[in-house]
Amino acid sequence: MPEEIKIFSQYINGHFEKGTEYFEGINPANGEIWAKFPAATKADVNRAVEAADAALFDGKWKDFTATQRGKLLHHLGDLIIEHAAELGELETIDSGKLAKETRSQTAYVADYYYYYAGLADKIHGDVIPIDKSDMHVFTSREPIGVVAAIVPWNAQMFLSATKIAPALAAGNTLVIKASEQAPAALFKFAELIDKAGFPPGVVNIISGFAEPCGRVLTSHPKVSRVAFTGSPETARHIIRNTSNNFAHLSLELGGKSPIIVFDDANIEGAINGIIAANYGASGQSCVAGSRVFIQQSIFNDVIKEIAKRVRSIVIGDPFDELTEVGPLATTTQIKHCETVIKESIQQGAKLIVGGKQPKGFSSGYYFEPTLLVCQDQSIASVKTELFAPVISAMAFETEEEVIQMANDSEFGLGAGIFTENLARAHRVSKQIRSGVVWINTYRVISPLAPFGGFKQSGGSREAGLDVIYDYTRTKTVWINTSDKPMSNPFVMR
Ligand code: NAD
Repeated sequence: MPEEIKIFSQYINGHFEKGTEYFEGINPANGEIWAKFPAATKADVNRAVEAADAALFDGKWKDFTATQRGKLLHHLGDLIIEHAAELGELETIDSGKLAKETRSQTAYVADYYYYYAGLADKIHGDVIPIDKSDMHVFTSREPIGVVAAIVPWNAQMFLSATKIAPALAAGNTLVIKASEQAPAALFKFAELIDKAGFPPGVVNIISGFAEPCGRVLTSHPKVSRVAFTGSPETARHIIRNTSNNFAHLSLELGGKSPIIVFDDANIEGAINGIIAANYGASGQSCVAGSRVFIQQSIFNDVIKEIAKRVRSIVIGDPFDELTEVGPLATTTQIKHCETVIKESIQQGAKLIVGGKQPKGFSSGYYFEPTLLVCQDQSIASVKTELFAPVISAMAFETEEEVIQMANDSEFGLGAGIFTENLARAHRVSKQIRSGVVWINTYRVISPLAPFGGFKQSGGSREAGLDVIYDYTRTKTVWINTSDKPMSNPFVMR
């Protein structure tokens, strides 16, 4: 056990508060308790929502011009860059993700704030050429109200930025619920919100469990918008909760994304894509390309090459610069992987490499990068989102067949296509039922490019221009410009 356990505070109405209840933070690299986080009670959630609601109407926030909101967001982006290493390292201790990845991802998160800072004063309504004389009709884009942003544990700073930045740019206020698995970076981020100069109550940061924190927040009558990233199972609860407040809801959910390798592909690039898609972030990525389809004529050679690369992956401490795959975030995930891999082997899948906890890492939550060859898509590992470094590879013969196989999933988040044939790339990407398609690349994102899914991956989009409109609602104003009073409604002209 570390000598000093770090105690974090929640951030409500501009104050850093102790909790009345706490939960423990466990470092997945060694299984030790390293921190205690406040577990928001029903009263805490209510206070946070009340503070956000009051900040909308009573505080200084409503008097900020859109340009001023943009400048504040830009300043927040600068502070994120200044503190990227510290925020990234907190994510690493909390989640086990590699420090080299969390530091650079956190620095890139600033670009999401800069992008929406620039958009803040570029959203506006219209004048309607109305079909009535003596009427001037215009629309304005107003903030929706209090936004509840709920994020999973695997990329706290990034997944919250895609919600916080457009919500604030559009003039909303927020209550952010950090994941109970890894909330440290967001609690630290509260200090940057404070330092940037957001008025009290505009951004509130809490954490806690589904019950009471998640339920009370998402069903609160003063919450007007819920922005959720997480699993489809939790999304179903949230949909039920929002039947209480009719909050606008966006859902960014799980995936089981296909990667297709045609025999005309640049094989080195394709293998790098497959490795990045599945072993980057230890496979704990919503867009992990974990269903890999390889054309029959090159199947054995490509599998041999992937296996060789997997065997050479350096497993280790997430702070070590040489480490390529770190621990998983929880022991539950290890058990889940072991169960599904065992079932898949019983169903006929062939384990090529991995499939168990590596030797010499008894105290951390490590799992070997794994490659399974599956005869078809009925195998458990092909159907189940594992959120772990596990590939299920299958062979295909024709383009038509692989399109059908790729689409045969309840999910539709990402997809990768590796081919040197431009016409084929266009043809296939058009037929793939997923929100993002990467051709001869994988897992690239940008604040400028919309991201989201089809089917059980949720139909919402984050990032890109249009998202800012999801954080506004249209008000229509009718003005009678006649110099005569409004006419008697019971006298027809
Ligand atoms: P999860 O659904 O268990 O939890 C996500 C968040 O929801 C957590 O903060 C949790 O406390 C909260 N929550 C749980 N029950 C709730 C309830 N009843 N009401 C309100 N809030 C509740 O997900 P996880 O295990 O943390 O993350 C993994 C999942 O997230 C995977 O399915 C992954 O694919 C998905 N994910 C999706 C994206 C995307 O952009 N599409 C990105 C990252 C992760």
